[in-house]
Amino acid sequence: GGGDEEVEEYLFKVVIIGDSAVGKSNLLSRYARNEFNLHSKATIGVEFQTQSMDIDGKEVKAQIWDTAGQDRFRAVTSAYYRGAFGALVVYDVSRRSTFDSVARWLDELNTHSDTTVAKMLVGNKCDLSSIREVSVEEGTRLAEAEGLFFIETSALDSTNVKTAFEIVIKEIYNNVS
Ligand code: GDP
Ligand code: MG
Repeated sequence: GGGDEEVEEYLFKVVIIGDSAVGKSNLLSRYARNEFNLHSKATIGVEFQTQSMDIDGKEVKAQIWDTAGQDRFRAVTSAYYRGAFGALVVYDVSRRSTFDSVARWLDELNTHSDTTVAKMLVGNKCDLSSIREVSVEEGTRLAEAEGLFFIETSALDSTNVKTAFEIVIKEIYNNVS
């Protein structure tokens, strides 16, 4: 008592990975700033955004990293993964090749991580139902096989974006507390 309690602080690094143009940068800008860019070019500059949420009355901050264009060259560096406690592994439901790449991204993540990482498989662009190439069932099955959470999102119309990040951040909190 007496106001000299330790103030607990939580800051978790979360990385977003997946093939180029699946919507990683727009998922982050939708979550952190409620912004969407229809003509976003490869990410330049900003490497991460910090976003806070309340869990059990505690302020939990997530430092969410975007690949900053490294995904274009399939050269996401080990520094990117270092210290990450959570990951969103993103594919585009309208491009099967990006779903086929998920296994490779998971391999890379597992190779570089030194702790338990809360992982969410994210099927983005679920608004593009007329040109969908990957079904919800396929996403669900892969997530079950790999032990991942699974969600479909749309950074365009905001479907499930907040939920995707918050599930990961809550899981990290549960893993460490
Ligand atoms: P990144 O390379 O993975 O960071 O992908 P971007 O966020 O730059 O997005 C690539 C392209 O897909 C851009 O033209 C975005 O406008 C578009 N995009 C991103 N998310 C969505 C979405 O949920 N739905 C639709 N229809 N397009 C999206
Ligand atoms: Mg990007």
